[in-house]
Amino acid sequence: VQGYVGQTVAVLGLGRSGRATAAALIEGGAEVVVWDDSVPAREAAEADGLIIRDLTKQGAFEGISKLIVSPGIPHLYPNPNPVISAAWDATVPVDNDIGLFFQSFATDAWNSFDVAPRVVAVTGSNGKSTTSALIHHILIENGRPSQLAGNIGRGVLDIEPAHDGEVIVLELSSYQTDLARALTPDIAVFTNLSPDHLDRHAGLGGYFAAKRRLFAEGGPDRAIIGVDEVEGRYLANQLIEGAGDDRVIQISTGRKLTDGWAVSARKGFLSEMRKGRQVASIDLRNVPGLPGAHNHQNACAAYAVCRSLGLGPKGIEAAMHSYPGLPHRSQLVTEHNGVRYVNDSKATNVDSAAKALQAFTKIRWICGGLQKEGGLDTLLPHLQNVAKAYVIGREAEEFARQLSGAEAEVCGTMAVAVSRAAAEAQSGDVVLLAPAAASFDQYDSFEKRGEDFIACVQEATS
Ligand code: ADP
Repeated sequence: VQGYVGQTVAVLGLGRSGRATAAALIEGGAEVVVWDDSVPAREAAEADGLIIRDLTKQGAFEGISKLIVSPGIPHLYPNPNPVISAAWDATVPVDNDIGLFFQSFATDAWNSFDVAPRVVAVTGSNGKSTTSALIHHILIENGRPSQLAGNIGRGVLDIEPAHDGEVIVLELSSYQTDLARALTPDIAVFTNLSPDHLDRHAGLGGYFAAKRRLFAEGGPDRAIIGVDEVEGRYLANQLIEGAGDDRVIQISTGRKLTDGWAVSARKGFLSEMRKGRQVASIDLRNVPGLPGAHNHQNACAAYAVCRSLGLGPKGIEAAMHSYPGLPHRSQLVTEHNGVRYVNDSKATNVDSAAKALQAFTKIRWICGGLQKEGGLDTLLPHLQNVAKAYVIGREAEEFARQLSGAEAEVCGTMAVAVSRAAAEAQSGDVVLLAPAAASFDQYDSFEKRGEDFIACVQEATS
C-alpha cells in the first residue's frame, strides 16, 4: 500500500485481513501499530514482530494518521466499537482494507499494464457469493484472467494483478462498503435488497452505503442493478441520463423490461434485451449449478458483468453449464435412486430458506436450529412444495409446531433426519437441507452443519 511513508497507521483486529493489511502497509513504508481485544491474537502478532499499542487507552491516537478496521467489527450498529469511537473523537480518519485497495493499488501499481485491470464489485443483500464466484468462473472458462477476493477467496490486499486486462472480482459485504473511504470499481453490481434486511439497521446502512457509492461522482462505468425492489428501480433511475444511456443494465426475475439495456430471467429463460428487442437468450432450466429463480437472478447479474467485459453470449452460456456451485449454497451433494440430495446450509434465515423451497418440488425438508427473530410465518406460503419436514436442533419441537399444517417429524439430530428422509424418499424427490435457522445450537458454523449433512448423506446412500 503506497502513500503512507513516514506516517503511523493503526490496525484494529488481527484476523486474516488485519494481518494482511498490516503487512501491506509495512511493505509500503508505513509505521504500523496494531490492537485486538483478544490476548492470544495480540501475542501471536507480537511474536511476529508487530508493534502492539493499546488503542483503548486515553490518548492512544496521538500521532496516528489513520485507523484501519477489520470486517466484522461493528462501527455503527448495534454499537460502535469503543476504539472506533475514540478515533472519531480524535478526528482520526477510519478506513478499511477495501478503501486502501481502491486508494492505492488501483492508481499506482496498476498503470503499468497495456490493458488496464478492471475491478468488479458485487454488493446487495443476497446472492453476492454466488454471483461473484459465477463471474469468476465464466471469465476463467473464457480465457480471461480473473481473481476473486473480498468476502470470498483472498483478502483484497493479497491481490496484485499479474496480467494485462485482468479482472478483479470483489464480493463486498454492506459493512465493508460502508466503511471504505474509496470505492471506485469499474463495474458495480447491486443484486437485490431483501426486505428482511431493511428491518435491521446494518442492512439499511449497507443499502445506503451501496447507493451512495453507486451515485458517486466519477462512479462506475457500468452499474448492474437488480430492479425487482423499488429501491433498485430508484437507484437505476438516478444513474441514467435518459433513453439510450448504456451506463445501467437492469436485472430482473419476473418483470418485463422493455427499455434500455436489460437482462431478465422468466420461466427459466434468461434474455438480454436492448430497447425492448431480445438480442440473446439462454435456457437456464438444466444448468445444474444454478437451480431456482434466485439463482437465475444471480445468473442475470453475472451475465451482464461478462457482457460488459466484452464476452459473447455463447461463451457465457457454455461456462454457466460447467459452474460447479459453491459449497453449502444449493449444492447438489449426490443423486441416488432418483433422489437428489441438496445442501443449502447457508440458508440461515427464513428469507433464503423460502428461496430454496421455491427452487424445488417434492421436497423432504431438513430444517431447524437456532431460530432468528420473527418466527416462520413468511415461510408458510412456500410449504406446498414440501412433502414432509424433518426437524433438527435443540428447539426442534417448537420449530415443528410453528410449521402448522405441514407434516413434520421431530428428528433432533442431522443423522436421524437424513436417514429418515432417505428411507422415505421416492424417485423424483429432493432431500433438501435449508434450515431457516442458525447452526450454533449444534455446530460451530453453517459450514460444519453442511459438512455433517454431506457425511450423513454419504452414509445413508452408500
Ligand atoms: P451472500 O454472499 O449474499 O450471502 P450467497 O450466494 O452466499 O449470498 O447465498 C446465500 C443464501 O441466500 C443461499 O443459501 C441461497 O439460499 C440464498 N440466495 C442466493 N442467491 C439469492 C438471490 N439472488 N436472492 C435471494 N436469495 C438468494
